Amino acid sequence: MTPPAKEPLQILAPNPSPLTGPGTTTFLLGDAHVAVIDPGPDDPAHIEAIARAGRDRIGHILITHAHRDHSAGAARLSRLTGAPVLAFGDAHAGRSALMARLADDGLGGGEGLDHAFAPDQHLRDGQVIATPDWTLTALHTPGHAAGHLSFQWGDRIFCGDLVMGWSSTLISPPDGDLSAYFRSLDRLAALAPRVLLPTHGPAIAAPLQRIDELARHRRDRTAQILAALRTRPDSAAGLARRIYAVPEQVLPIATRNVLAHLIALSQIGAVDFPGILSAETVFSTA
Ligand SMILES: [Zn+2]
Repeated sequence: MTPPAKEPLQILAPNPSPLTGPGTTTFLLGDAHVAVIDPGPDDPAHIEAIARAGRDRIGHILITHAHRDHSAGAARLSRLTGAPVLAFGDAHAGRSALMARLADDGLGGGEGLDHAFAPDQHLRDGQVIATPDWTLTALHTPGHAAGHLSFQWGDRIFCGDLVMGWSSTLISPPDGDLSAYFRSLDRLAALAPRVLLPTHGPAIAAPLQRIDELARHRRDRTAQILAALRTRPDSAAGLARRIYAVPEQVLPIATRNVLAHLIALSQIGAVDFPGILSAETVFSTA
């Protein structure tokens, strides 16, 4: 593929937090034909700034996933510009059969889901969107969210929340899926991008190194969880308390990540639990 001609414009939304870092970065790609990637939260001033920067040339509003900090402003931007909203699907699209069943059984989760999100067009894995200015390929990359898309643009990939340079990614079941996350990391790595452009925080100039770090971090966490369970059976919350050295207010998030590991371990038969799997389940090593 030919190298991209022009850097995408970046507009930072005013929503910094522990999960969004400096806030949501909205990308505007192209000149005569502008694609907006992740308009961000429904903040009128932010959405109006995007519309102004697009100078009546916004033709596509692309969403990596239906979390409010990425998608909630899409409807307002679409009204202002007339551009359609393109995404994998609504907030629940892409859930595996296992995760759908666990959700019915009372797994909790669903943090940040944009339940009102209704894209005009559904994108499938591998779908190409092309204008004279740019060509993007939608890649279905679940893990953080079941319907998460990344967008490949030449040798760069807009990777949403799948890979960040400054933080690991929240994987909260049933929308977060650790097994899917590992597959998506492998897929990105196999494409050998030169640069990754996450929605939160700076561009990643050494993608393979960062992907490797993140995968290693999760494998280490898996080993810690198994070691703790060998000492005594415990719930996700109990394990998070024993393993994570984080302040009390971060423990609920850590608990969701631990639960993602426990579900992945149960899928390969490495942990056991009585009855149905829920947020309170006590696990033991198999
Ligand atoms: Zn997200």
